Amino acid sequence: MIIFQRMEEFDYEELICFQDRATGLQAIVAIHNTTLGPALGGCRFWQYTSERAGIDDVLRLARGMTYKASVAGLNLGGGKSVIIGNPKTHKTDDLLRAFGRFVNTLKGRYIAAEDVGTSTDDMVTIRKETRYVVGLPLDHGGSGDPSPVTAYGVLHGMKACTKAVFKTNHLSGLTVAIQGAGHVAYNLAKNLAKENARIIITDIYKKKAQRAVDDFGAEYVEPDKIYSVKCDIFAPCALGGILDDKNIRRLKCKIIAGAANNQLKSDRSCGRLEQMGILYAPDYVINAGGLINVADELKGYNHSRALHKAARIYNAVARVIRIAKEEKIPTCVAADRLAERRIERAKLARTIHGARRKPVVRQIYT
Ligand code: NAD
Repeated sequence: MIIFQRMEEFDYEELICFQDRATGLQAIVAIHNTTLGPALGGCRFWQYTSERAGIDDVLRLARGMTYKASVAGLNLGGGKSVIIGNPKTHKTDDLLRAFGRFVNTLKGRYIAAEDVGTSTDDMVTIRKETRYVVGLPLDHGGSGDPSPVTAYGVLHGMKACTKAVFKTNHLSGLTVAIQGAGHVAYNLAKNLAKENARIIITDIYKKKAQRAVDDFGAEYVEPDKIYSVKCDIFAPCALGGILDDKNIRRLKCKIIAGAANNQLKSDRSCGRLEQMGILYAPDYVINAGGLINVADELKGYNHSRALHKAARIYNAVARVIRIAKEEKIPTCVAADRLAERRIERAKLARTIHGARRKPVVRQIYT
């Protein structure tokens, strides 16, 4: 009963549990919505404290994927899987292959990918049992490291924000403060340096930030100072949940545009930013480059095509900003509306053209 209540709340399509005693596999797949296409989402390998925690996580994450794919203009639905256990001690090739066989029984309704606790090499193992998996390394015909494409998408989303706030697409002369100096952040700094932007960067591992200082002339600040530095754009590229009341009060930027997932501490954080006159680019809209990159494998991976599609994040962010303005709502609410409207249009098209036809969905950017 509790499960069906949870599924009804946000209209989930499927929640499937699978166990394989021989390998100790316990996995759950959640398929939220397949109106736009098959549900694609990562496979998280995590030691959940309870089955309920695993179910909560897989449901929440699957729904997030529906919204991300929709706004990114992809004809994909939202899904996610979790394997319950400690990846360090529990993960074996046999277990991953059992997971692959499980995914295969879903006949493409769910397509797995890499996530927390799984790697591109794990996807190669899963691929031995099913073709419904993406996120393979380049030497296996996959899309490899998604961070350059994610960073490229963030750069274009940032430009849509500067157009709205500073009336220019040029970042030259603007100051961008980047939190984190990992995979996405380093690539973002590289792009920003090409645009002649001034870069301020931090990381809890100073050595990582030092690389951006040496390579791109960025300035380093201590991790806690990044919120209060004077800048035009704050780009969170490290952790989720950082935009809480305390940190928001310290910000001295006009725009927040970065790659980190789940940046807002709570729903009201978005409203707080709006009150402070800060334009927030919703995280799942601006960081969709990673999904765009991995989804490109479904057509036979082409890096230039993935970059080209990631550049269209400019249009998605611009559209979110326009909806927010027209409907007088925070940008995070506008992003959800944009996603839901595209799905509704596809549903309508399906009703008109018949359930057996593939959904006719115009790209939202045309
Ligand atoms: P990463 O692990 O390579 O980099 C994260 C960096 O943040 C690390 O260098 C880490 O030391 C640093 N960090 C952690 N806590 C910090 C703190 N309090 N202050 C400053 N630095 C801190 O990860 P990534 O692949 O670059 O991803 C960055 C973010 O973007 C994550 O939230 C990720 O979920 C999100 N994201 C990444 C991709 C992608 O393509 N990699 C796609 C979409 C979203």
